[in-house]
Amino acid sequence: MTTTNLRIKLIDETPTPFIDEPMPLDLSLKWASKYENQVDPRVEVFFAQSAYSKCIEHTESDLENEVGGVLIGEVRVDPMCPRPYIVIQDALPALYTDSGQTHVTFTQNTLVHLNKELEEHYPGKRIVGWYHTHPRLGVFLSSHDTWLHRNFFADPTHVALVVDPYYEQAGFFCWQTGNKFDPIRYVGFFELSDVDEESVVELENLTPVIEETPTPCGAAALEEGAAK
Ligand SMILES: [Zn+2]
Repeated sequence: MTTTNLRIKLIDETPTPFIDEPMPLDLSLKWASKYENQVDPRVEVFFAQSAYSKCIEHTESDLENEVGGVLIGEVRVDPMCPRPYIVIQDALPALYTDSGQTHVTFTQNTLVHLNKELEEHYPGKRIVGWYHTHPRLGVFLSSHDTWLHRNFFADPTHVALVVDPYYEQAGFFCWQTGNKFDPIRYVGFFELSDVDEESVVELENLTPVIEETPTPCGAAALEEGAAK
């Protein structure tokens, strides 16, 4: 079996269709990175508080070695927005990873296990991305991380989340228009309130964006227009 066949079979065997639903902006708080205006992601990222807390708890479980897993949720389309958005609804720690201080990688057994978990416990959901930690190293993707993303998370809606649990930093790496992928410039996310009306996010490198009427599609379209 070739790597390509393996990838399709394990990750994208029966992709769940996109869901038509307006962005839950009134329930969300946008967290922006310093690179926010320099990247043009193919998706917007909504991170449910419950999933965020579970993910962060895992990332803080080891401040010496890297840990990782996958992000589970839905891909949705807002009729008012030209690009889809993902809603991360759960985080699933990966077993059988080869981890060291410098990198996490998924083995074939990891992917078999994750796929089985998804089928059994998350019917109708997708793997929308993956996460891993860089204790004391900061938020970026190494060449190995980029290789892994390109090979296992090649769908335009797939994202990579990197967390530095030591310095309390995090960021998302997304596919960009023109199949571009930037391993340095990360974006933030919309914190979707499903647990608490107050924010549960405590990150040193992201800033909350307070807008009376948040319009991410409108803002992006204006910026795109201005760049041309
Ligand atoms: Zn890494």
